[in-house]
Parts: sequence; C-alpha cells; structure tokens
Amino acid sequence: MNSCLFCEIVAGKIPCEQVHSDENFLAFKDISPAAPCHILVIPKRHISALTDLDPSMVDLSGQLLVLAAQIAAQQNLDSDGYRFVINCGDDGGQTVGHLHLHILGGRSLNWPPG
Ligand code: 5GP
Ligand code: ZN
Repeated sequence: MNSCLFCEIVAGKIPCEQVHSDENFLAFKDISPAAPCHILVIPKRHISALTDLDPSMVDLSGQLLVLAAQIAAQQNLDSDGYRFVINCGDDGGQTVGHLHLHILGGRSLNWPPG
C-alpha cells in the first residue's frame, strides 16, 4: 500500500491531538478546523473510502457511528446539535484517502453544502 497520512497518524509517525483511541478507532482534532469543534473519527485499519465498504464491515461501520455520537456528547454538542460528514471521492470533496467521519459542531452550520 502507498503511504497514507491517516495510517501514519495511527502508527504515531505523525502527531495528532488525540480525542479517543481504542482497538479499532482513533479520533483526533482536525488540523484545519471548519467549526469550533471539528474532530475526525477513523478506523485504525486502512479503508480508502465509503466505496470500499462491504457487508463484512457492517459492525465496524455501526461502531464508527455510535462512537462518533458518544464523542459528540463528550464534547457537549448534544444540546445545540452537530453534524457528521463523510466525504467520498472527488465530487464529495474527499482529500485524504482513508475513511474518516467529520464531527462538526459549536456553531450553526449551513445547509445545503456549497
Ligand atoms: P476530507 O476533505 O478528506 O473529507 O477531510 C480531510 C480532513 O483532514 C480535512 O478536514 C483536513 O483539514 C484534515 N487533515 C489533513 N491533514 C491532516 C493532518 O495532518 N492532521 C490532522 N489532524 N488533520 C488533517
Ligand atoms: Zn490509511
């Protein structure tokens, strides 16, 4: 596999501001926050994008969503609300080829995206 930025963060080769780590997932603050709270939640194993998910990954996908909701609550985003975003591919605006879920909160967010 070619080098992957988020795999290098998982391996500790590139530092991050960690919010959560367990056997399967890592959460860390986005280096260029688009909202007062902007956290990325990633599976530690390399999955390139939503297009690479298959039925064997149903558990992992569900765990990702539940964990992200728990982190949003820990960040005190529950009362005012928040948004999850998973960009996929060029049109989706994906810039890092390792599946990641954005948690965005702390301000009112526009809809639809531009
Ligand atoms: P995408 O555009 O692929 O959905 O999101 C990639 C995100 O990764 C962007 O919000 C970008 O700011 C963030 N990012 C890119 N490089 C780094 C990095 O080295 N460290 C951290 N913490 N975030 C990064
Ligand atoms: Zn990776």
